[in-house]
Amino acid sequence: MAEQSEGGAVRKRSVETELVTAGRDPQRFDGFVNTPIVRGSTVLSATVADLEGHTGRYSYGRRGNPTVETLEVAITRLEGGAGTVLTPSGLSAVSTALLAVLEAGDHLLMVDTAYQPTRRVCNEVLRRYGIETTYYDPLVAGGIEELLRPNTRAIFLESPGSQSFEIQDVPAIVDIARKRGIVTLMDNTWATPLFFRPHDFGVDVSIQAGTKYVGGHSDLNLGTISANERLWRRLKLVHGDLGLTVAPEDAFLAARGLRTLAVRLAHHQASALTVAHWLEQRPEVKQVLHPGLPRHPGHAIWQRDFTGSSGLFSFILQPAPKAAVDAFLDSLELFGLGYSWGGFESLAIPFDCSSYRSATTWAPGGPAIRLHIGLEDPADLLADLEQGFGTLAAVRDAQEPTR
Ligand SMILES: *Cc1c(COP(=O)(O)O)cnc(C)c1O
Repeated sequence: MAEQSEGGAVRKRSVETELVTAGRDPQRFDGFVNTPIVRGSTVLSATVADLEGHTGRYSYGRRGNPTVETLEVAITRLEGGAGTVLTPSGLSAVSTALLAVLEAGDHLLMVDTAYQPTRRVCNEVLRRYGIETTYYDPLVAGGIEELLRPNTRAIFLESPGSQSFEIQDVPAIVDIARKRGIVTLMDNTWATPLFFRPHDFGVDVSIQAGTKYVGGHSDLNLGTISANERLWRRLKLVHGDLGLTVAPEDAFLAARGLRTLAVRLAHHQASALTVAHWLEQRPEVKQVLHPGLPRHPGHAIWQRDFTGSSGLFSFILQPAPKAAVDAFLDSLELFGLGYSWGGFESLAIPFDCSSYRSATTWAPGGPAIRLHIGLEDPADLLADLEQGFGTLAAVRDAQEPTR
């Protein structure tokens, strides 16, 4: 399916084409382009022989569903893995993947800049099952070797780092893990496999919060876990044993989002870079944390390993009173104040990682703000930020200067 005969030569289709075609089978559904939303738990067999022989394509709603299968197949093509399972949220994809790999007595190396709720999975859940977590600096690269213990079973990566956008040296870490037979897992929600394909770098398990760019419309929660040949059987078994299912409506919406992922991401990428470059020139801004900017400390590795950047990045303001920063955010009209990201709309949140990081210190020297750049015209977004900075200055100057 991934290949096409062309004058005798075999040509591999591009990922953009795969996004449009993968997992669809209109002939199965009377020619309708999209797999319909099939609801159901019970699947009937014609005879006892069929029932006992599992001759049907599906046996029970939890074990397989045409709408869900369409999305699984499409994600597998996008990831280039051996298979995909879906979970009800991005966080449950993280926890399911970890539970599939780890057992009591194991040691886990978790990147310090992981999505914060992922830390709670380690500290509050895995710990109770006898699995110990050590957090590591995202910039550790080959130095990860010194953190290995005889019982280290897995290394978890997330690059760029959540909120703070450090870029990890994935090949250096995977190289050491492979030599020791250690499993690598990666939360790749920011890049999606369009801009970074974990399996191509030897990562065993690739995780996405499908809530973000796959869905792309802020209307669902979903997780995807893709595994290579080494981990696929085990992942599929544990996912089945945990009894996880996703609603066919959510799978349908996520598959619908996936069809336009490439064009949406191209727009998110271009607009986010426009806004990031503009912010870099602003006197109110101390630093822009976007790996696509040449001044970003992770830029060289990002350029080596990634094929693009998405719409999420952060920036650090020059020191300003909280009231002025809050007034800036409150005054924004096109940037909603809300968690999550990856939808068509722009978002802004203030953040502070200092309370939960343990292997690194978060001290950016000014208030930190994360932006998601949506599909609006970037000129309108810049105008909105510009008026916001006007509000910030007015409130700041009316108060006692802090500098
Ligand atoms: C949002 C997010 C998740 C969790 O996804 P939910 O659907 O909200 O559970 C996991 N990892 C990253 C990097 C995320 O941004």
